[in-house]
Amino acid sequence: MWPSFSLNRPLAWLGLAGLSAAVLLPLMALRAAALTIVAIAMIDLWRQIRAEHGRRVLAEQALELSQDGLMITNADNRIVTINPAFTQITGYQLEDVAGLNPAALSSGRHDRSFYDRYWQTLKSTGRWEGEIWNQRKHGDQFPEWLRVRACYDGRGRATHYIGLFTDISRHKAREHDLRRIGFEDPLTGLPNRRRLHDLLASRLRHLRAGEGLDLALIDIDGFKSINDGLGVDCGDRLLARFGQRLAAQVAGGIVGRLGGDEFMVIRTTTFEDHEAWVAGLRQHLSEPFEIEGNSLRLGLTIGSCRAPEDGNDAGVLFQRLESALYSAKRHGRNHDRRFRPSLEADDDRQLTMVNELHQAIVNNTQLEVHYQTQHRLDDGEMVGMEALLRWRHPDYGQVSPADFIALAERHGLMPALGNWVLDQVIAQIANWRALGIAMVPVWVNISALQLIQGDLESRLLATLNQYRVPAVLLGLELTESVLLDERAGDVSPRLEALRREGLQIAIDDFGTGYSSMAYLKRLPVDKLKLDREFIRALPFDHADAAITSAVLAMAQGLHLDVIAEGVETVEQRDFLLARGCRHVQGFLYARPEPANLVEERLSKRGSSVHA
Ligand code: C2E
Ligand code: CA
Ligand code: CA
Repeated sequence: MWPSFSLNRPLAWLGLAGLSAAVLLPLMALRAAALTIVAIAMIDLWRQIRAEHGRRVLAEQALELSQDGLMITNADNRIVTINPAFTQITGYQLEDVAGLNPAALSSGRHDRSFYDRYWQTLKSTGRWEGEIWNQRKHGDQFPEWLRVRACYDGRGRATHYIGLFTDISRHKAREHDLRRIGFEDPLTGLPNRRRLHDLLASRLRHLRAGEGLDLALIDIDGFKSINDGLGVDCGDRLLARFGQRLAAQVAGGIVGRLGGDEFMVIRTTTFEDHEAWVAGLRQHLSEPFEIEGNSLRLGLTIGSCRAPEDGNDAGVLFQRLESALYSAKRHGRNHDRRFRPSLEADDDRQLTMVNELHQAIVNNTQLEVHYQTQHRLDDGEMVGMEALLRWRHPDYGQVSPADFIALAERHGLMPALGNWVLDQVIAQIANWRALGIAMVPVWVNISALQLIQGDLESRLLATLNQYRVPAVLLGLELTESVLLDERAGDVSPRLEALRREGLQIAIDDFGTGYSSMAYLKRLPVDKLKLDREFIRALPFDHADAAITSAVLAMAQGLHLDVIAEGVETVEQRDFLLARGCRHVQGFLYARPEPANLVEERLSKRGSSVHA
């Protein structure tokens, strides 16, 4: 635009006068003097134009720098110009919106009367300010705080409207406490799995010709050791900062946290540079994080895919991202892997197994519960048993629960499988009681997904009731990662309620997870189960010996029972006995056995333990 300049400066008039004088005056000397005046006036005018231009450039740069979106419309309310923040927030470029009525951005959330009031205020006062919901190019609706001013010409007619707006979706999210209804990850403030699913579905619906989505699932390598080494608070801070950095990197895209140390990124794009995009994310995130004086450089494992090439359904894309991530993890740490259909060949084999597992649950064949007894250390008396699932596959033989439980979790079979085990165990206890056998509590492993599903408690209590089995005969083993899984919400009150009913709770695989003392103190549990990993090399491994001794001392301080699992040798037993451990489970005492074999041992005991 050509800069305007003003003629209300004396030099300008003097210049004009000088110009006519230079033409009209008869004397050369006078003409020369007049021309000098003209020249001075011209220079002044030039300076003025330059200054004006400079101010305009500054103003434009300021608007470019502004984090607020800017939109100028003309008297007919057609968009004339926008700034870069407008594009960042809404996804629209100038050529998308030039000449359009801003109504084109409307979310459809406000009714006619809202816009009537808007125009009434703007026309009568020349300004409007308030919250308004608009829609981004890619379809997400978002709230903005909008300030509009009318600009007038000399005769008081509006020539332009200037609108400045701030994207307030993040504040809004807090305000509405979306968190409470479960859309926001409380630690990072980012969308959680559920919300991500919706956002992805919405982006897919709004894809235009030539556009695609790049998706990445990012997992922080060795996050557990950061948590263990620096403490959970530090780990939390790292996750929050990681989320922030990622969000800053993909402005206009979507960043969310799926739980734990898994983050998801989605962007709409017209570029075909998927691999470069992933490499860019990695590079940006591999800059060290400074947390409490520690400089942490993270390794990342990334699974990625693209829509619509790799699918155009949110559920399918989630699955494919996950299979890409699993494949990257299998490859080793700090790798990325884009989804390829051949990965699904792996998945195909797995899917076959999932189907077979499903059939096994439905038909009640091939699956069995074995029982491994637990003993008092000082006199060897049987004090409990752990229920362990077994799958006898017709082709593969015994499939380890360590393998198929992860599979069942990934494919949504865990609730059914978990319920099957609980029903089986409770029925078995009832059976033994009916035979007049004095019972010991039976401990059942509970997976995160059973807890997340939410109706675990009611089902459990109903089944106990149905078989008339006292709740004290059932214990639940939950690993630390289950207890910390945010998808299950705050588990403390739920555990408390179960304990009030008489059930016992143990933390399984203790020592391998994230637990901090502070966290442990708050949890309503009865027992710690010291993981086999620490027992294996006892008493010779100094580190394991120190850890075991420390856990035993700490548990005594907290009045928690400890049971050591995986005890295979007399040396291990003696070491534990000397450190004050009271209960053990392991091959030294008994292997997991089918119900009928345990039954013999149960009934051969004296009737010293009752319930
Ligand atoms: P876990 O809870 O740590 O179970 C203990 C595992 O250690 C069992 O393996 C058991 O057979 C084995 N074990 C016990 N004593 C010894 C010993 O002295 N030496 C050695 N080397 N191993 C010993 P298993 O039965 O293969 O189970 C593996 C994992 O599968 C379990 O680990 C548990 O996390 C999971 N699991 C088993 N049954 C269920 C179930 O019904 N539900 C759920 N959610 N998970 C289950
Ligand atoms: Ca266990
Ligand atoms: Ca274990």
